[in-house]
Amino acid sequence: MRRLLLALPFALLPLAVTQAAVEHDHDHDEHGSLSAHEHGVGRLNAALDGQTLELELESPAMNLVGFEHAATTDADKAKVAAVRAQLEKPLVLFNLPKAAGCVIATQELESPLFGDKPDADDHDEEDAKDGHEHELDHSEIHAHYQFSCSAPGALKTLDLATIFNTFPATQKIQVQLISPSGQQGVEVTAKAAALKF
Ligand SMILES: [Zn+2]
Repeated sequence: MRRLLLALPFALLPLAVTQAAVEHDHDHDEHGSLSAHEHGVGRLNAALDGQTLELELESPAMNLVGFEHAATTDADKAKVAAVRAQLEKPLVLFNLPKAAGCVIATQELESPLFGDKPDADDHDEEDAKDGHEHELDHSEIHAHYQFSCSAPGALKTLDLATIFNTFPATQKIQVQLISPSGQQGVEVTAKAAALKF
């Protein structure tokens, strides 16, 4: 009996923790996104594991498209389509060396500007109005790529110069890089756009 009573709080704990995490995320998305999302600043997670290279670029839409509202005019729609086409050529965009023999295994682009619905749990029915305005204020573009590289040893550096040239409103990219030589967090700018794997 005593054992059961001791076990009980622990049994309840995971649920409480999960609940707290959900609440926290919700708060963060609703009130924290403005500080997390700074125009001119992109984020990139890069991971090299064996032959698999994974790149995850998260950027304010402003950096890539020049605006963050839903495209309604023909000019805006054309701009969004052009950016999307550029993001669909990650081998060019990330300047991956041919010698590494990387091919795209998966790629996924996500943004309210591409017509994707924002995360469902951000928007309860009752605060749909409020949430909608936030969505109009700021939106991001997320691009997630997975490459299979036949000669990953040829990946000596990750050169982001093409990204800065293609999207000049991007001033810096905060990179988290995980590679066989360890993990590093680096802030990359147009002037110093390459980092070592
Ligand atoms: Zn914004």
